[in-house]
Amino acid sequence: MRIGFGFDAHRLVEGRPLVLAGCRIPFPRGLEGHSDADVAAHAVIDAVLGAAALGDCGSMFPASDPRYAAADSLDLLRQAVRAVRVAGFAPSQVDCTIVAEEPALAPHVPAMRRNLAEACGIRLEECTVKAKHTEGMGFTGEGVGMAAFAVAVIEPSTAGPRRPADGAGFLS
Ligand code: MG
Repeated sequence: MRIGFGFDAHRLVEGRPLVLAGCRIPFPRGLEGHSDADVAAHAVIDAVLGAAALGDCGSMFPASDPRYAAADSLDLLRQAVRAVRVAGFAPSQVDCTIVAEEPALAPHVPAMRRNLAEACGIRLEECTVKAKHTEGMGFTGEGVGMAAFAVAVIEPSTAGPRRPADGAGFLS
């Protein structure tokens, strides 16, 4: 088994929808970014890619690439998981913590869990989403932005295609 860790943060701005773990959440502001700026999905992408030593979200889906403008980050997570499978692994557990002062995220946690579990190809009981706040402290507490942390466990998989025997770079 291998373990990866992911972190991401985005600024909150007016005029953007708030998308967290694939859920569009009613709120007067949203996260700023090239894609949908789904900070939770991005942290999970970094965790699964990190576990497989496949780089990170920014190297696989560069902000300079117009294909990823307003991209659905849950779809980017599915692509990252496919890359992990090509490398011969499959996610077996994901644990994600979202740090946001408001809005209250607890009502959305079940849907966020379902989305991340589906995108990672794992069962619901293998996927955790937790919502935390920092009691007014720091950029998350002051409502300047939101952050997310994630840990992913991946295990060797016999189901998917494997990396070529010569280890030729999956990421060119
Ligand atoms: Mg990001």
